[in-house]
Amino acid sequence: MTYDPNNVFAKILRGEIPCKKVYEDDFALAFHDINPRAPVHVLVIPKGPYVSMADFTLKAPAELVAGFIRAVGTVARQLGVEEQGYRILANSGANAHQEVPHLHIHIFAGRPLGPMLVERK
Ligand code: 5GP
Repeated sequence: MTYDPNNVFAKILRGEIPCKKVYEDDFALAFHDINPRAPVHVLVIPKGPYVSMADFTLKAPAELVAGFIRAVGTVARQLGVEEQGYRILANSGANAHQEVPHLHIHIFAGRPLGPMLVERK
């Protein structure tokens, strides 16, 4: 999948549309999901044009890969969800129902989150 520079998260990164920011550093931006599926539902995105984790780890400089992963952990700590527990998830491609073609890590927390997938093989 090629990167579409007009995807909604690229626009958020450029400041063209607003977000409810949770955290930002040189490598990542974190903000509340517009349609939360849990009491805490935050998205963490890297600052760069990457569609998926596979694309990101192939093309991004090592400093950005490390900085982005570190930011995900920082956000989890900052949200205060470590003790009760949380889930991180990244959808990639059609089978995973990826809606926005810019790599994003979902952080879900604030209630028991149930099984990882609906049981169907
Ligand atoms: P995906 O299915 O691609 O993993 O998830 C995309 C997520 O982005 C969805 O949970 C959706 O609610 C969220 N989203 C889509 N558009 C916007 C937006 O403009 N602002 C924010 N904050 N979240 C968005």
